[in-house]
Amino acid sequence: MTDHAQGHVRVEDVSIRFDGKSGPVTALAPTSVELKPGTFTALIGPSGCGKSTLMNAIGGFVAPSSGRITLDGQPIEGPSDKVGVIFQQYGLFPWFTALGNVRFGLKRLGLSRREEIERAREALDEVGLGAHAGKFPQQLSGGMKQRVAIARTFAFGPKVLLMDEPFGALDAQTRLVMHELLLKVWQKHRATVLFVTHDVDEALLLADDLRVMSQAPGRLLRHYQLEQARPRSFSRSGSDLLDIRDEVIGLLHPRSMLAEPA
Ligand code: ADP
Ligand code: MG
Repeated sequence: MTDHAQGHVRVEDVSIRFDGKSGPVTALAPTSVELKPGTFTALIGPSGCGKSTLMNAIGGFVAPSSGRITLDGQPIEGPSDKVGVIFQQYGLFPWFTALGNVRFGLKRLGLSRREEIERAREALDEVGLGAHAGKFPQQLSGGMKQRVAIARTFAFGPKVLLMDEPFGALDAQTRLVMHELLLKVWQKHRATVLFVTHDVDEALLLADDLRVMSQAPGRLLRHYQLEQARPRSFSRSGSDLLDIRDEVIGLLHPRSMLAEPA
């Protein structure tokens, strides 16, 4: 298979139910979505609509109750090295340095010690943390910790990158820096990205595809293709991003959610 054909995710009629305390809970209504190789999809929807559940299913952490999910034509049967995940909570090991954390992510590749260190250093350089390689997570700010997580994930070369509200804990200024950084690293490595966010602006500034989910049990309500060149801005004249933003905010309003047919 050629490289550009990799990282192709198909979610076909996937629904997910959990056994809750008071009976089964439908976390995701039947949903179909395609993530084209190398594209950036943002997923937005009200809290509890099933965004993390869908993401966990693509990551192989949760099995669909019906339907199927494939990656490059192969059914996803569990977590794999082809899929990287980044969560809001960084997920760094406190007892490893920044370099140690990135190296840990590379263990599965079976590189020599020298290659491993070299690659980890490159990855940290790429996210601007070359000078902080020897620091431990508690010595780093939230934004820096998330940069280590990004370096760790891209370093092992996943075909698909799942990000679940990765910048949700960061302040607005740091988030802007992270957006720029993420786009830079993604444009270099070209993994297929699925990015869950609560922030409409973040979705509009980053994504090629924007998917809006309904209230629980979630299903996909609307799909926007964003073709504006990056870096994007809302203030640039002639930008239709503002119109889409108004529409999405309207869609996410509880009243319009209730008005949607079941
Ligand atoms: P979101 O990420 O959009 O906020 P989630 O995917 O986390 O939503 O959750 C969707 C629904 O599924 C919620 O009602 C949640 O309580 C339920 N849910 C998620 N995971 C489990 C689980 N492991 N067991 C039972 N219910 C779950
Ligand atoms: Mg979630």
